[in-house]
Amino acid sequence: MKQASYIELSKSALKRNIRYLKKRLGRNVKYVSVVKGNAYGHGLEEFVPLAEDSSVDYFAVFDSSEADRVLSIKKPKTDIMIMGSIDNDQLEWAIENDISFYIFELDRLNHAIQTAKKMNKKAKIHIELETGLYRTGFEEDELREVIRLIKANQDSLFIEGACSHYAGAESVANYLRINQQYEEFQRLMTILRDYGINPKYEHTACSAAALIYPHSRMDMARIGIAQYGFWSSKETRMHNLLSDDASFTRDPLKQVLKWKTHVMSVKTVAAGKFISYGNTFLTSRKTQIAAVPVGYFHGYRRSLSNSGYVLIKGRKAPIIGSINMNMLLINITSIPGVKKGDEVVIIGDQGSQRITVTSFCDVGNLVNYELLARLPEQIPRYIVA
Ligand SMILES: *Cc1c(COP(=O)(O)O)cnc(C)c1O
Repeated sequence: MKQASYIELSKSALKRNIRYLKKRLGRNVKYVSVVKGNAYGHGLEEFVPLAEDSSVDYFAVFDSSEADRVLSIKKPKTDIMIMGSIDNDQLEWAIENDISFYIFELDRLNHAIQTAKKMNKKAKIHIELETGLYRTGFEEDELREVIRLIKANQDSLFIEGACSHYAGAESVANYLRINQQYEEFQRLMTILRDYGINPKYEHTACSAAALIYPHSRMDMARIGIAQYGFWSSKETRMHNLLSDDASFTRDPLKQVLKWKTHVMSVKTVAAGKFISYGNTFLTSRKTQIAAVPVGYFHGYRRSLSNSGYVLIKGRKAPIIGSINMNMLLINITSIPGVKKGDEVVIIGDQGSQRITVTSFCDVGNLVNYELLARLPEQIPRYIVA
């Protein structure tokens, strides 16, 4: 069934972003493409093959169900890591399929060892170290037992990685905290190495860390938001543009995703009428309005009522009235000739105008991630050049 709105993914934008990011990382740093949250709302099934066209080394997901989806479509040479949730009874499946997973508690380590022993196949693990995010990760006082178990079960474990995650590398406010985390990671690594544990990869960097703190790149970087064409924050963008050797005339990152729909209906409303629910918009003159079939059900923020914009005929059309569950209204009085079926751009560009996800939510860039991740899976995704 045809959907009211659809998402286009730009193949060339993604190619360009990954090429740029790989150049920033340098030749010896493996590129992990982070595709959790349905590839940041871009659509996992559509995104994975596109990313593989740009030769990424690894896909990182949050849980085993996402790993399963990637497994069914990825090429044999690309690896998968689960950074978060996997049940003990799914470890067998992961080991069978060479999917590596984070270990941040002894319970999972013990189960991984038992399962691997039973299967006579090594479990590929990443040891997550607590460096100061205080989410998951082994504390120093647990390391002794981790080391003992690893040493005693070398036939059952392959130490694919040692890793950690920074507590907000995109914000200058966290500068000291990030540096302390880096130092702590180095200190804990020294302990592991002293006991002869040498992980294949050491990895701590997300997009912002990789772009701002070169030493955080180590052997591999886990790149999420930047590959989709968004800077993690204004600071990340500025830092990167100004420290980039190459002269630039346009932003090196390009938004991959475009969200589009069509005008559902147009109508003329007389002066002095409240439009849509409630009383948030009163027409001050004869007003031409158009209904657009996108609402908060589709992840469009209700707080953009009477304040957001969409693009139509290459012009910005303000949203008027409250965002409904499945619909929003726009004022097209100053855009003549709009008719039912005309293309409406909700995110992306049209003509010379552009609506970026950032301009949606000036409040903070974490909201970026949220809006993308909330794009419903049912909206169809199409690949465009
Ligand atoms: C989401 C995530 C990343 C990627 O972060 P970006 O800021 O999107 O690049 C990296 N590592 C972990 C553990 C994550 O959860």
